Order: sequence, then C-alpha cells, then structure tokens
Amino acid sequence: MEKIIDETVQGAALLIGTNEKNTRKLYIESYGCQMNFSDSEIVASILAKEGFNTTDDLAEADLVLVNTCSIREKAETTVRKRLEKFNSVKKTRPHMKVGVLGCMAERLKSQLLEEEKIVDMVVGPDAYKDLPNLIQEIDEGRNAVNVILSKDETYGDVAPVRLNSNGVTAFVSITRGCDNMCTFCVVPFTRGRERSRNPQSVVAEVNELWEQGYREVTLLGQNVDSYLWYGGGLKKDFEKATEIQKATAVTFAGLLELVAEAQPRMRVRFSTSNPQDMTLDVVTTMAKYRNICNYIHLPVQSGSNKVLKAMNRLHTREEYMKLIDDIRRILPDCGISQDMIAGFPTETEEDHQDTLSLMEYVKYDFGFMFAYSERPGTLAARKMEDGIPDSVKKRRLQEIIKMQQEHSLYRTRQHVGKTEEVLIEGPSKKSDEHWMGRTTHNTVVVFPKESYHVGEFVNVKINDCTSATLLGEAVGYSENNG
Ligand code: SAM
Repeated sequence: MEKIIDETVQGAALLIGTNEKNTRKLYIESYGCQMNFSDSEIVASILAKEGFNTTDDLAEADLVLVNTCSIREKAETTVRKRLEKFNSVKKTRPHMKVGVLGCMAERLKSQLLEEEKIVDMVVGPDAYKDLPNLIQEIDEGRNAVNVILSKDETYGDVAPVRLNSNGVTAFVSITRGCDNMCTFCVVPFTRGRERSRNPQSVVAEVNELWEQGYREVTLLGQNVDSYLWYGGGLKKDFEKATEIQKATAVTFAGLLELVAEAQPRMRVRFSTSNPQDMTLDVVTTMAKYRNICNYIHLPVQSGSNKVLKAMNRLHTREEYMKLIDDIRRILPDCGISQDMIAGFPTETEEDHQDTLSLMEYVKYDFGFMFAYSERPGTLAARKMEDGIPDSVKKRRLQEIIKMQQEHSLYRTRQHVGKTEEVLIEGPSKKSDEHWMGRTTHNTVVVFPKESYHVGEFVNVKINDCTSATLLGEAVGYSENNG
C-alpha cells in the first residue's frame, strides 16, 4: 500500500553513495509525507557539493538534520523527542550541529531556537538552496534561520540524489505549496503558495531516472490536479499572464501526457488528487496510456456536506460521488483510495454516518484515516472549537477503519483468480524467498522469487489475499518488460 504517511520509513536515516573528497558526515532523517522525503533528497544533493557524505550512524555525525512534519500534533511531538535524543549524543560530540528543516521549522521559525536549545539552524521548505550559507553561519558559531517562503522556488534545477532507494521507484515533485486553504490544514502556512515546476525539467528528470534503471515514477504535489505551467510564477497569478502564456499553458493532464509519452515503458503514478480540481481529461489521459497506473488517491475527509463546507472543501458529497461514477465509467479497473478525518469540529453522529455511507458507496481499495488534530494558525483553530471529545473521535475513527478493512478485503478478493502485471520492488518484508511488488492499482503483491529480478515486470497469477496483500505466483514476464 502506497502510504501518504508511511510508518515504516518515518524517521529512517537516509543514505547515498559516498564521495571520497567529502570530509564531513551528514545524518538526515525525515518525517511526514512523501514530499518531505523527496525534499530530503534535494537537501542531500545540495550538501554533497558542500563536503558532506551521509551516514546512518548518529554517533559519527558532524551535522544532524531532521526534516519535519506539522500536519498533526503527534508528528511534532515525535520530532521533539528526537531532539532530546540528539541532545544526549551532542554531550559526547560537542561540535555536532543540529538543524530542523521542513514544515515544523516554517511553522515555529526562530521560536524553535528558543524552545529547543540544541537547535543551531532552522530552515523552511523553500530555503534549502541557502543551506551552504546557513552552514557557514553555524560553523562560525552563530545560529542560522531562513524561513522565507518563495514565489517561484521549485528546485527544478537541482537533481535530487535518491536516498535509501530500491532503484526501481522514485518520486518526482511537480508542484510546491498549496492554495486550497482547507480549514484544518497547516500546509498553506508551512509550504506557501502553489507554484508549478517547468514540465521540461520534469520530463528530463523522468528520462534520467529511466536511464538509471528506474521503472516507476510518482509525480508529487499537494494537489496535482492544480498543476499549471505558464512560464513560472504562482498559480494565483495566472490571470495576469499574457495571451501567449495562457495559450501555451500546460495543465496536469498535459503534463501526464508528456511524461507518459517520453518514457512509454515507465510506470507513472501521481499523488495527491483533489476532488475539487480533478478534471475528467486527467481520467481520459489515464485511460489513453497503458503506462499511467490505474490508481487515484482521492481524499474526501468527510461524507457530510455540512462538514465539507466547514472544512472549506469546495465540493459536495454528491459532486464527489459523481466524480467517482465518472472515473468508474471511463476507467472501470481503477483503484481508488481515501484520506478521512474523524471528529472535525461540529461533526455530529449523523455527519459521521454520512461518512460511513459515502465509504459504503465507493468501497475504497484502501485509506489513510486520522482523528482531527487542531493545528495552530489554521482557520479551524481560530474560528471553531475543537469540541468533539477524544473518546468520541477515537470511536468514530475505529468505525471508519473497521469499515475500510472490510472494503479493502472486498477489493483484494476481486483480484483472486486474475493475472496482474507486477513491478518487482524488492524482497518481501516477511520472507526472503518472496518478492514484493505492486499492481497498477497500487495493491501489494507477494510471490515466490524463482529466477526473477528487482525492476522486472512480471505477470502474477493471484491465488489468495488478505485485506492488504495479494498472494500469487509468477507466470512469466509481462510485455512491458521489453
Ligand atoms: N493535499 C492533500 C489534500 O488536501 O487532499 C493531502 C494533504 S495532507 C499532507 C494528508 C492528509 O492529512 C489530509 O488529506 C488529511 O486527511 C490529513 N490531515 C491534514 N490536516 C489534518 C488535521 N489537522 N488533523 C487530522 N488530519 C489531518
């Protein structure tokens, strides 16, 4: 299951190949969404040119960076605990410097330096190119902060180094920031206004990944459907663009087409789609190219019109259901997953039942479900009381998770008896004798290794399943294997 918050990689130290000329050691760990993991690859790329090799041993680090998430309170608590751990290491390694990157850095700014004495450097998500200067500052004994949000930074010109990579699947960032202003969400405050990356640099990165042996890319953005390239600049300024810029603008469907055609055997995924911005030309483009995977992550957050309005999600339950119907009509064999929030302010039992009935309607393949966590500075925190008791939030969340598990099993069972194309990503976590890969629908498949290799496309006959995994046996290479 492709997770937005992948618990198995949270806090993993990221490693890249070493350059013998580099003399200092960088320990970098990342929390939160795929975007943060992708950003850490940009940071490591910038610092590789500044004399740093990565290490996964905290005890030998000269510089420790933690790329942080603010989406829920728990994410920030985890980072504060890690800072305590870094503090204990610093006692025996006084020259070691500690930097906080990402959303928590942006949200708290220099307040972090006051609250967490161990922190030397605070860097927001748009300021990573300034890292060489900031590191010089801390080397000279001063604290350093850069949390300036940018109108045009997309890091399109930084070739990310792939950290902890399986060599087969990679993330390619296509937009930064978010303009949606969902009332629960801290992202617009921590990642700034939305801007899109030059399509040529996206295609160039995908081409390079193919040359390096990668066989699947996931195009990343907070709201990929909102992608719009008209020569650079903020999405909100598109109205001021010239006629020629408007006429030659590239939308998300256009970008998908460019990527799919540039590498016809590269699998293409994308995340995250937003129901209010998703247009049907994206779905028809998916149907047109066999290398674009049949999978859409389409967060809805709630099934109640009243709650959707309070969340400033700019669509209704009925519009969302119509979009699902249209997707199933154009692309009948499409995996669909959700994000859901339980216990948003004012949510009644009736609203909660609306969420369950929407889930029953869609029967999602899988989902990522959360109890509402109030985030300082958001509209919900400023204007609405976080009034649903924790016990009620937890109970509603459990009911949502239970229903999702039933639907996941319903969906995986549909695959039993079929033969699916699988891209092999690596060994199964549970058995050295088995490979793990995914179908086009993003469903995990486990099967005996035989003589197949990582990075190959194979056809797997599905014999059995759990709610999260398909179990099968390979019956040969797929035509995509080349
Ligand atoms: N941009 C995407 C969207 O809005 O659909 C996803 C953004 S966020 C990184 C991933 C998920 O975290 C959201 O879809 C939402 O379900 C959850 N989330 C965001 N803010 C939250 C909050 N304050 N409390 C609980 N969950 C939250």
